[in-house]
Parts: sequence; C-alpha cells; structure tokens
Amino acid sequence: MTATAERITPRRTRRNSGDAERAAAEFLTALGLDLTTAGLSETPARMARAYAELLTPRPFELTTFDNDEGYDELVLARSIPIRSVCEHHLLPFVGVAHVGYLPGDRILGLSKLARVVELFAHGAQVQERLTKQIADWLHQQLQPRGVGVVIEAEHLCMSLRGVQATGARTMTSTLLGTLRDDGRSRAEFLALARLGTQ
Ligand SMILES: [Zn+2]
Repeated sequence: MTATAERITPRRTRRNSGDAERAAAEFLTALGLDLTTAGLSETPARMARAYAELLTPRPFELTTFDNDEGYDELVLARSIPIRSVCEHHLLPFVGVAHVGYLPGDRILGLSKLARVVELFAHGAQVQERLTKQIADWLHQQLQPRGVGVVIEAEHLCMSLRGVQATGARTMTSTLLGTLRDDGRSRAEFLALARLGTQ
C-alpha cells in the first residue's frame, strides 16, 4: 500500500493582533461597556485572541493510500464535531458533520476527514458554503466515485437573538458523483448519516 502525504497549509491572511485588540476595546466601549472594571479590563485582548483562534485553521498532513484492496463500499465518518462562525453576525454555529465517500483509486486516512472539516470551518462562514467546500475539496483531492456531506448545526445568531429559535438545527447537504446520481447509494448514505442523530 503506497502512502502519499501532502502538507495542507491554509492560506494565511494578514492579521494584526494589536489592532484587533484596540478595535475590540473601542467596539465594546461604544456599546457602553466599562472596560476599567477588573472583570472587563483584559476582555479586548481575550476577545481578539478568541476570534483569531476561531478564524485560523491548523495545517495538517493529508495522508492518502492506494486502494489496493479495491474497497468500493461507502466510507463514512459520522458526527464529526463542527464549530464555525457565521459571517453575518460573527457568532458561533456548532453542530456535527457527517462526511462520506465512495472510494476510487485512493483512500484517505480516517482521522483526516475531521481535519478537512476543520480546515473549512475555521473562518467566517455560511453553513451552505461550508458544506459544499468540504465536498468539493474531497472530490478534487481523492477523485472518489462519490462524496456526501451533511451538516446539522445550531446557529447562536438564531438561538440568542432575533427569532430566538433555541435548539433549532439547520441541515445542509451536498452530494456529488454516484452519491448524487444513484438513488440506492444516496439512500444508503443519508440513512447512515442520519442514524443516531434523531
Ligand atoms: Zn448569523
């Protein structure tokens, strides 16, 4: 079995932590918070660090292997934890992703599916685009016969404000290749992805 490892380094964006901290202080002050109190004095710095972390994916090794055994059944990682930030309110959305593929010539190290999810989740996102980016990326990297991604997440911008739909989960899915075109493969994927999530 031939293993190929490729270093995946997320695109670096320009970041200035001093500016972020000063802007956070100004933002909170403008909203009427008193930053001279003991509890709040370090908050702008903590806030800047917290957002920097939420918006920064970690690099990882993408390890793929020749599919020597000719494995042609669905590979599915269910309930991968997902945390991201919605680009409309910059509030978190959290939930799970179910990611599966029908192998072609290459198979992927199993733990890597979670890292691919993280790669795209760490940024200002919308759930629909996140779902599609994960599926498209796997499709390009592995050239599998099919890819399926289902994400179910609770958006704090919906739960905490506005309609206050506490506990409402948003479902999105992207199916590519055989998982989109073949009814039986699609039904198998969706049944396995939803099992245990009710
Ligand atoms: Zn939002």
